[in-house]
Amino acid sequence: MSARGPGNKKAMTSPLVIAIDGTSASGKSTTARRVARHFGYTYVDTGAMYRTLAWHCVMKHMDLHDEKAVAAVCRKWKTSLVNVDHHVRMLVDGYFPESEIRTSEATAAVAIVAANTKVREWMKTLQQSCIQFGNLVMEGRDIGTAIFPDTDFKFYLDAPLAERSKRRWADGVQEDLAKRDHSDSQRASNPLMIPLGAMVINNSGLTIEQTCQLIVDEVNRRLAARNY
Ligand code: C5P
Repeated sequence: MSARGPGNKKAMTSPLVIAIDGTSASGKSTTARRVARHFGYTYVDTGAMYRTLAWHCVMKHMDLHDEKAVAAVCRKWKTSLVNVDHHVRMLVDGYFPESEIRTSEATAAVAIVAANTKVREWMKTLQQSCIQFGNLVMEGRDIGTAIFPDTDFKFYLDAPLAERSKRRWADGVQEDLAKRDHSDSQRASNPLMIPLGAMVINNSGLTIEQTCQLIVDEVNRRLAARNY
């Protein structure tokens, strides 16, 4: 289950994980998808998994602050992971929710369910199991700190709040990013932080191509340095 580590023969045969963490609207999804395509790895959007849970709880009119009830959903619901064209999808009762999980209602709910420690434990097991799909580019908030802390390939994306808010506006989404940043970085369980050993990229003023190139070059440099 571990990502590749240097100097370990057994680990050398195990899949490699590129972890991309960062703040909301820092360009993680687009960047991670492109980097995955570049290397031919499988892309995992862990935010979509938390959003799916939030959407599910909202649909069931649950009290999101009732931690026990929300955690019980994870234990009871029927989810599965499938790999479609190198993108991992989390299905709920065989259904793949896509646009539903991006609504303002689901977005407002997600940070609340994501702060639930039992939910995070459940998500951790699920997200680590994605290694069944081979080499991964996984994006989220705690990939390099909690999900695959041993990977040698960690990146942290960020940009000033004003710029990230502008990006959301340009996408037609009105959202209080500062509130979500605060909630994600202040929660007790696996808060958003820069993982040890991560390359930090402030992509303010960079194009997506330039951001991807920085990551690709750094992955190649680390691969060469470690004789992968
Ligand atoms: O990346 P995205 O904006 O879709 O993530 C939605 C929310 O899911 C985040 O704001 C955060 O609350 C939660 N999340 C998390 N840990 C992850 C990925 C997402 O807590 N690894």
